Amino acid sequence: MRGVEYLALIRHARSSSYVEELVEVAKLEQVDYEMLKRRVASGKAVIPRNTKKRKARLVAIGEGLTTKVNVNVGTSGVYVNPQLELEKVKVAVKYGADTVMDLSTGGDLDEIRRSIIEACEGLPLGTVPTYQAWITGVKKYGSVASIPRDWFIEVIERHLRDGVDFMTIHAAITRDLGLRALSSQRLMPIVSRGGSMIAAWMAETGEENPYYSQWDYVLELFSEYDAVISLGDALRPGCTVDAHDEFQLGELAVNAKLAKVAVERGVQVMIEGPGHMTLDKIIADVKIMKSLSRGVPYYVLGPLVTDTAIGYDHIASAIGAALAAAAGADLICYLTPAEHLGLPTIEQVKEGLIAAKIAAHAGDLVKLGKRAALSDVLVSVARAKLDWETQLKYALDPERAESIRQQFGGAALRSCTMCGQYCVFLLLEKYTSSRRERSLNELLEKYRGGGLELL
Ligand code: SF4
Repeated sequence: MRGVEYLALIRHARSSSYVEELVEVAKLEQVDYEMLKRRVASGKAVIPRNTKKRKARLVAIGEGLTTKVNVNVGTSGVYVNPQLELEKVKVAVKYGADTVMDLSTGGDLDEIRRSIIEACEGLPLGTVPTYQAWITGVKKYGSVASIPRDWFIEVIERHLRDGVDFMTIHAAITRDLGLRALSSQRLMPIVSRGGSMIAAWMAETGEENPYYSQWDYVLELFSEYDAVISLGDALRPGCTVDAHDEFQLGELAVNAKLAKVAVERGVQVMIEGPGHMTLDKIIADVKIMKSLSRGVPYYVLGPLVTDTAIGYDHIASAIGAALAAAAGADLICYLTPAEHLGLPTIEQVKEGLIAAKIAAHAGDLVKLGKRAALSDVLVSVARAKLDWETQLKYALDPERAESIRQQFGGAALRSCTMCGQYCVFLLLEKYTSSRRERSLNELLEKYRGGGLELL
């Protein structure tokens, strides 16, 4: 061990009766404190927060908590515009992202990462250090085959020193799994960018995955900063026909074993999931993952429920994400309309984020029930009263809702331009007004009083 003394969150939750951060999270999430503490102690909930370098906002991810949404930003190797990525971060913050990941692969990667950390206003920041290790490793050592395995670890350390709160670590694509996938009949052998870099490195060097072979040391590093490991799904299905094959499930089994060791050592960990997958497989996927991993948080990238929604992948992804969240997935990675096509614009980042937030909330209405439903009831009550101000206030994108409300002269109406004077609420107003006010208020009270619920 590196000999650093500190009280990491899991250990704190295991050994103390009072953990200030968890008291705050319990209030924020309206959950029982003792239950939350048990979930953190057992690895079923995490808080991505690099405690040594900086303290991000308290965003808890895991069982019994609201589903969170991540936004990816980052330069590309062929289009480097760091300022554009910072604008995307602003949009992510404005429209309610819970976490941000910097996936940059072009330009000065250290500089870009640091500026994104500055710009994300305290939201937990994640990275994929494999990208930088591979890109800079090729430059520094001359070829993929010459990159020493320790270089992959050194780059992790660099990110931790900058204050990164969570990182995708592609540790479970073992040499056996990765090389077999490359020569398999899989339609798309590997679609993860980091996973393909690790596979290429293993193919060139003949060595075992550098994260897998040095897992103990990786755990020591994350333990020192109390940052969260997000175990990557390098072998996620890149098309629906590859879903739930031996490679996806084989990697999941390895990830579950690595997560178990991490939790035993007091390191916060979550596991990443698919990918492309038809609707009928999603609930089973979440259940298998939770069962194998003993309930560590599940971070899903989609799942995309069809391969054909090109230009609309944020919708294909939101459909899968809603089902995954309802079944127990804890963090959703947004997708934009530009997925599979190119680097997203600022507007596409916003569209993707709103779609993912709808999916997360739809999942929470099933997963958390009454605890998640207050905003829905407030909107419904306002809708029944034709109270546009309140409806717009609770809209996920109030500006867009307001602009649609105004089109065709709608803002001048008490109803809207869809039915105009034949609006059902206007037509039936005189018959229902005596009972309606009372029952709507009773309904609101019922949900407002939902308050604290056991997880
Ligand atoms: S006019 Fe039609 S669409 Fe608009 S609020 Fe009334 S019932 Fe709803």
